[in-house]
Amino acid sequence: MSKIGIFRCQGNEKKCPLTNCLLSLQERKQGFARYDQPELYGIFSLQEDFEENVNLANIMKSKGVEVIHIATCAFSKKAEGKNWELGGGYYNNVDSIAEKIAKETGLPCVKGTAHLPEGYEVECFG
Ligand code: SF4
Repeated sequence: MSKIGIFRCQGNEKKCPLTNCLLSLQERKQGFARYDQPELYGIFSLQEDFEENVNLANIMKSKGVEVIHIATCAFSKKAEGKNWELGGGYYNNVDSIAEKIAKETGLPCVKGTAHLPEGYEVECFG
């Protein structure tokens, strides 16, 4: 079993209830294809403040989270049709955030959850 924590985006808190993130986790596909038994252990919203993200990630860790995922919409956007493309997401420094979370918590931090952009190889920090 892999205990998963998800960071979502503040920018779409009132637009998306994480439906595809949760379905992808449940169905072990997209960003969660690597796990045999992924289990959702917590969700927080990414903050602009780096240190605050580390604090939240540490809370997830204290609750038992083993791997942290950052929602796909943090670093990509919906293109024409149904496809998503890299860039244009809600945050422009997701790599730095993921790197910092991984370094400070000791947990792997993975970029991506649902509807991964075409050609994107899931990146894992830590
Ligand atoms: S990645 Fe997709 S499903 Fe998940 S929160 Fe963002 S827009 Fe919603």
